Amino acid sequence: MHGIDKRPGCGGEECGDRAMASFSRRRFLNTTLTGASAGVLAGIGTELGAPSPARAQTITSPAEALQALVEGNQRYVERQLTFYQKDLAILQQRTAEKQEPFASVLSCADSRVPVELIFDQSIGHVFVNRVAGNIATTEIIASIEYGAAVLGTKLIMVLSHGNCGAVAATIAGKAVPGQISSLYRYIRPAVNQAGDNLRAATEANARIQAQLLKESSPVLAGLIKEGKLSVVAAFYDVKNGKVTLLS
Ligand SMILES: [Zn+2]
Repeated sequence: MHGIDKRPGCGGEECGDRAMASFSRRRFLNTTLTGASAGVLAGIGTELGAPSPARAQTITSPAEALQALVEGNQRYVERQLTFYQKDLAILQQRTAEKQEPFASVLSCADSRVPVELIFDQSIGHVFVNRVAGNIATTEIIASIEYGAAVLGTKLIMVLSHGNCGAVAATIAGKAVPGQISSLYRYIRPAVNQAGDNLRAATEANARIQAQLLKESSPVLAGLIKEGKLSVVAAFYDVKNGKVTLLS
């Protein structure tokens, strides 16, 4: 456990505090920790295999939303997925007329980052926004605003990942076909800040996009100020499946 409560990725909100306070009461799997970066999502006990089937409808705070994602990622890492059975149940119940996602996730389009799968979440739980480089474009901000203001998501997670091609291409800065280079301008500030180390630039990009979401949208800023919404940045390790919250 590494002081998530002090991390600006939570925007000064209590999301990290409460979620992690809850986790700290659980039994740790310290053998899975490999250092600070292995981090905050690794310390979950083994008793989490059977979450409430109605989870999305019971989540009422940013802290609970973050906890649900963290616990789902732990089930994924431990290969104790539950989403498939719940998907079938939801389809059988024919609840197609409404959605109540508890979180928005802005992730890369990379095929190795299947968001619902890595958080073990079923139909209707996560409002997923994907674009190469997990960048907060105008359209992405609009989509995430819809998730928060209309659908009531409690948490926004900007999810970066290992070996991100969009970040690598921005670092390389070489000519590319079509409009691919239009991604670069969103990612360039992270490369300028973190240098040409891919992991460092990728994490910097997630933090910058999270900050953009917090600052560029009056809609989101208002919800954050009211304590109804938190924004966090995170990193997904494509090698071991772990999601780590970033400072
Ligand atoms: Zn990527």
